[in-house]
Amino acid sequence: MPISDFHGNSDIVRTIREMLARDRFPHAVILSGPPGSGKFTLAQMIAKTMNCLERPTTDALPDFCGRCANCVRIAEADNLEDRFAEAVEARENLREADKRETRIFVQTHPDVLIIPPDPPQMLVKVDQVRHVIGEIYYRPSEGRERVHIFSDADFMKEAANSLLKVLEEPPEFATIFLLSDNPSALLPTIRSRCMQIRLAPLSPPEIEDYLAEMRPDWKARERGLVARLCGGGLGRARSFDLTQYLTARQDALALLAPAMGARDHSELFKVTETYRAGADGKSKMDSTIRVVYSLLEDLLFVKSGTSEMVRNQDIQGELRRMAEQVDFEWIAGGSQKLGELETGMRRNLLRSLALDAYATALEAGWAEGSRV
Ligand SMILES: [Zn+2]
Repeated sequence: MPISDFHGNSDIVRTIREMLARDRFPHAVILSGPPGSGKFTLAQMIAKTMNCLERPTTDALPDFCGRCANCVRIAEADNLEDRFAEAVEARENLREADKRETRIFVQTHPDVLIIPPDPPQMLVKVDQVRHVIGEIYYRPSEGRERVHIFSDADFMKEAANSLLKVLEEPPEFATIFLLSDNPSALLPTIRSRCMQIRLAPLSPPEIEDYLAEMRPDWKARERGLVARLCGGGLGRARSFDLTQYLTARQDALALLAPAMGARDHSELFKVTETYRAGADGKSKMDSTIRVVYSLLEDLLFVKSGTSEMVRNQDIQGELRRMAEQVDFEWIAGGSQKLGELETGMRRNLLRSLALDAYATALEAGWAEGSRV
């Protein structure tokens, strides 16, 4: 897929390509946007366009061929998750002493270096930045531009301070990308030395169009739902686990049911007893809590007359019926109690009991004139 086919944010992509055409692309860039908005994909495309041996143009602007030796080797890192897992595994297999000295990098082309956050803390460490400083001043060996991509710019303090030195005066043949979901968390001194490019979240209709192409196996209704649940990021939309979401939503609705007047609690207990100890139980609990939040938020949208904001559009009718049962105060109380439930989970409360207690508190709130 050439850079001209990058989905969404077409004005930004055009500006980037115009800068590349005039050889005016900045040396330090913060590329930000919501998770799954294509920050890494775009950085890789820019790296390929800078270094492509064929240098094709589309719409009279620079693009990459995807076939030459440079494009092919840079593309080997397109699947960053797999390359990252391989690098982590390689380190795991080292001797104890070497393991401590080894930092994680992904490099499939001599002029393009990807610096992922280093596990287990998942932060960029000072040794990683020192490595960049050690090699950034060498001229590119097989391409025209040395590209450094910090795939998740979350730095340890010392690493951030070291990076400042390179950002002050990067060599003319180097480009540094800092990819971030939340650029305001970066040091102001780093931000002021970089050009900021922000990928905006895509609208649900834009995402639906994209999914119609990428996930023809999904029903239109399912695509509509995912488009509203993915937070505006295509990557997230494409890999969205709808089955898991719908299971979690079924459970979340069962938790809310007693507060909506359901007399029979056996359904509720059948659901909550499936929440067990261990890591599986934790991720199941986390996703259910997220879905309860989103349902409460949807109830707020319905009640405040902004139904077009509702994310769970496929159950609008049910949400409307639920919204008639409760008032704003009940919804606010439900969110607050959910926060307490999350805190309780960190203290290792039994999951099934904590969920029963939550459902009961919601029901009591409903019975007492909508007060939780
Ligand atoms: Zn090429």
